Amino acid sequence: MSETDRRTNLVAEQERLAARVDELETGNDASHSFDDNFADSAQVAAEQGENKSLASRLRRELDEVEAALSRLDDGSYGTCTECSAEISAPRLEAMPTASTCIDHA
Ligand SMILES: [Zn+2]
Repeated sequence: MSETDRRTNLVAEQERLAARVDELETGNDASHSFDDNFADSAQVAAEQGENKSLASRLRRELDEVEAALSRLDDGSYGTCTECSAEISAPRLEAMPTASTCIDHA
């Protein structure tokens, strides 16, 4: 995969994650204001908790995608941050945001 394709994929992933995080966080606010209309507020609280943990997980993924994009910018993409070895192509295919070689995973 060329570096241009890699960047295109990462940017698409960045946009997808950012939109999803935004949606989850906006959803939290909306359901919060309707709290009184729900008979089972425990269920609402549970759903909000799920959205919150999903949003924070997606935020971490987003951070990784953005870190990968900045490694593409500074030319260190595909190089292990621990030992400077080249990260294998199959590993990058499987995990485009990988910042370490398989030995340092
Ligand atoms: Zn390494």
